[in-house]
Amino acid sequence: MIQEIQIYNTLTRKKEVFEPLVPGKVGLYVCGPTVYGPPHLGHARSAITFDLLFRFLKQIGYKVRYVRNITDVGHLVADADEGEDKIAKQAKLDELEPMEVVQKYTLMYHKAMELLNLEAPSIEPRASGHIIEQIEDVKRILASGFAYESNGSVYFDVEKFAQNHDYGKLSGRKIEDLISNTRTLDGQDEKRSGLDFAIWKKASPEHIMRWPSPWGDGFPGWHMECTAMSCKYLGETFDIHGGGMDLTFPHHEAEIAQSVAAHGHEAVRYWMHNNMITLNGQKMGKSLGNAISLEQFFSGNHPLLEKAYSPMTIRFFMLQAHYRSTLDFSNEALQAAEKGMERLLKATAKIESLPVSDTSSVNISELSANCYAAMADDMNSPIAISYLFEGVKIINSVADGKTSITAADRDALKVLFNAFVFDILGLKAEEQSEGGNSEVLNDVVALLMNLRADAKANKDWATSDKIRNELAAIGFEIKDTKEGVSWELKK
Ligand code: ZN
Repeated sequence: MIQEIQIYNTLTRKKEVFEPLVPGKVGLYVCGPTVYGPPHLGHARSAITFDLLFRFLKQIGYKVRYVRNITDVGHLVADADEGEDKIAKQAKLDELEPMEVVQKYTLMYHKAMELLNLEAPSIEPRASGHIIEQIEDVKRILASGFAYESNGSVYFDVEKFAQNHDYGKLSGRKIEDLISNTRTLDGQDEKRSGLDFAIWKKASPEHIMRWPSPWGDGFPGWHMECTAMSCKYLGETFDIHGGGMDLTFPHHEAEIAQSVAAHGHEAVRYWMHNNMITLNGQKMGKSLGNAISLEQFFSGNHPLLEKAYSPMTIRFFMLQAHYRSTLDFSNEALQAAEKGMERLLKATAKIESLPVSDTSSVNISELSANCYAAMADDMNSPIAISYLFEGVKIINSVADGKTSITAADRDALKVLFNAFVFDILGLKAEEQSEGGNSEVLNDVVALLMNLRADAKANKDWATSDKIRNELAAIGFEIKDTKEGVSWELKK
């Protein structure tokens, strides 16, 4: 049931009808994390954006090969060409081998992504596992004349490239501005121009992560890995390249130049970028003192957080904004998202037991068409979610006996909600207590309820009230109904 979809192409700055290179199949490459610290909201937003795309494309019938890399070498501090490798720097601080740092934070990233209910990519290549491919590309770029060797390093010749190509077209920069904004080099510099970027870097004697190459011991420039790995797994030309908006320059601009220089043409047909996250209206960053890791969100253990926010709350909150909009995190907004998601999940669980009648006063096929149309319009998840909430109103109204629905419409509603809530938006019901203890918790509360029933039977009102009040104090709401006693953890 592949339908026509539109996606906004950063390169052309407009929405385009998406037509994959091979009908029915999509090649998707997304820049993954540089693994030198705990995963944060920025990682989550990019991963959730492209998980949504991955899930939606599959839902409408595409076969998708989703490649998301792990950057474990070559990404220098401040995205520079000189200085320390981010991972090597962290390794020194932690007194670890660089690959121990990579392992530590890769595991942490995977754990957080799993909690956020992200589907694993089809392939997750590491830069350090593709040094040979990167060296081959450096050789191709040298052969095409768009790079030069200087003192054991190889630099991309941006000004030469810009003579016949539009360097800056993805990020919307003009080469003249780039040139005038670049510091002038002193005579000692290895580069011909400050705009040039390293595609292979000579390793200084103390640099640990190093490999032999035709130009001596060194390591690849940061931008090389994505050019080499996307080509290896998706081909010289592929459908979609995604990443955070902060990667458009220099990373993705450099990738375009490298592909043209190495293969004679661009690799990417549609560029997609997710917007950034702010916290209480401010940019987030380690230096600003407001960087909160995902783990801290999940535990609530940070002075700026009023409480813990579950992974599904974070996920739902992000999906309530369009991926190309900036998204501001605040306690208030997160708590509103938490309530909204609860309402959505509760309604979804109710569909199966809705009473049916011979006639329907609702139009489920129109509702379904609206949800899919919203997603087909450049993944407009907030609009799709607003249609789902129209569905929630219908569900609650049918449950209250105010609206009638046929069995066929109830089934259609169930299909729609299962597809959207679970398969496309990727939400899931969360355990109310951590570590899968909810069954034990149920048993313990049931035991207390029995003790309370015994106390009541013995007219021991003091004990019965005490049990109820103390459970209420830790957040349990106890209700006496005709059917018996029910309880809910109100947290
Ligand atoms: Zn990349």
